Amino acid sequence: MITESEDISEIRRAVQALCAEFPGAYWREKDSERAYPAEFVDALTKAGFLAALIPEAYGGSGLKLDAAAVIMEEIQAAGCNGASAHAQMYIMNTLLKYGSEEQKQEYLPRIATGELRLQAFGVSEPTSGTDTLSLRTVAVRDGDEYVINGQKIWTSRAEYSDLMMLLARTTPREDVASKTEGLSIFLVDMRKVVGNGMTIKPIRTMMNHSTTEVFFDDMRIPASALIGEEGKGFRYILSGMNAERILIAAECIGDAKWFIKKASDYASERNVFGRAIGQNQGVQFPIARCYAQMCAAELMVHHSAQVFDAGGNPGAEANMAKLLASEASWAAADMCVQTHGGFGFAEEYDVERKFREARLYTVAPISTNLILSYLAEHVLGLPRSY
Ligand SMILES: Cc1cc2nc3c(=O)[nH]c(=O)nc-3n(C[C@H](O)[C@H](O)[C@H](O)COP(=O)(O)OP(=O)(O)OC[C@H]3O[C@@H](n4cnc5c(N)ncnc54)[C@H](O)[C@@H]3O)c2cc1C
Repeated sequence: MITESEDISEIRRAVQALCAEFPGAYWREKDSERAYPAEFVDALTKAGFLAALIPEAYGGSGLKLDAAAVIMEEIQAAGCNGASAHAQMYIMNTLLKYGSEEQKQEYLPRIATGELRLQAFGVSEPTSGTDTLSLRTVAVRDGDEYVINGQKIWTSRAEYSDLMMLLARTTPREDVASKTEGLSIFLVDMRKVVGNGMTIKPIRTMMNHSTTEVFFDDMRIPASALIGEEGKGFRYILSGMNAERILIAAECIGDAKWFIKKASDYASERNVFGRAIGQNQGVQFPIARCYAQMCAAELMVHHSAQVFDAGGNPGAEANMAKLLASEASWAAADMCVQTHGGFGFAEEYDVERKFREARLYTVAPISTNLILSYLAEHVLGLPRSY
């Protein structure tokens, strides 16, 4: 439906070829062992896909967000799980946009080669939930260092990352005019602090997601880890969050495409009452409806990436893309299980695994309710509800 350049089509084909090396059996094994798909992430890194957004001057391919979105979409559409590596794409934006030249020189080339992994994003906390501005992790300046105390939750891939983008409060909430001030972003070199102020505890979840709790106990990091100006961190990550929402939305489109293809193939092959189940409109209509829903969401994902790439502020567009795409993928997941009947529950079909993985995205990285309240308040001018 969307016409695209030959460059983008070439990226799609290259990602498809790489993903073909990692079939369902690979993911089923990782899933049952709750193991990190290191071989897959290595392959993506070696092929340069995880360095897509890094400018060429720092060793990356200098692509735009629309290309990164296509990479993530194709990973999901192939039945793979991009959640093992997607953060590197979207955290990057904060470093690219607000990091100093020195920080970029120090980290970006080594992230591009895969020597360093930037996969951990520490924002969520157990007590603040979606109310990010009430987070309690504090960073206090002490000479040339910051001392960090507090706790994060759901910090995914922390065990498999060398660097963490960390949001902490540097000025108490009661001492700032606006609660969006006084938060700062740090690029923490985890290799120096794990076991030395930082403790990581895995959380087992319904899918293979390598997520964790992270505790900071008088963790000392150099003051040079601060990104941009102290106290402005929340503003910095907002722009990164648009990138995150667009990339996650693209993953949801990939998931929806996988479920729709899987269901269409099965409905054509499976014979009951002497004919293909897909001959029944009661089976084919839900598949067709999911296809229409996915195509509509895909247009919004594409549009929001274009606004982002043109230097605009796609706050509303990125949120709508994430809302529509996560709902389209979840509807397709449910439809795919229904189409498969009992076999939708059998591990060897991969449907139940993808179903569990796809469930996340109407909750994280931002839940549907919070997107709706953003649209109601900031786009439609309705009264603020919280
Ligand atoms: C597997 C997984 C991986 C994750 N990875 C990361 C990560 O790498 N880094 C990170 O920082 N975070 C991560 N998260 C956290 C994720 O972003 C949050 O779970 C998500 O933003 C929701 O926050 P919460 O869980 O605190 O829910 P809560 O804020 O407690 O909300 C619970 C429910 O109440 C609703 N709700 C809350 N307030 C309102 C309101 N005012 N109006 C209407 N409804 C409301 C929400 O929509 C939600 O449905 C991850 C989460 C999961 C489950």
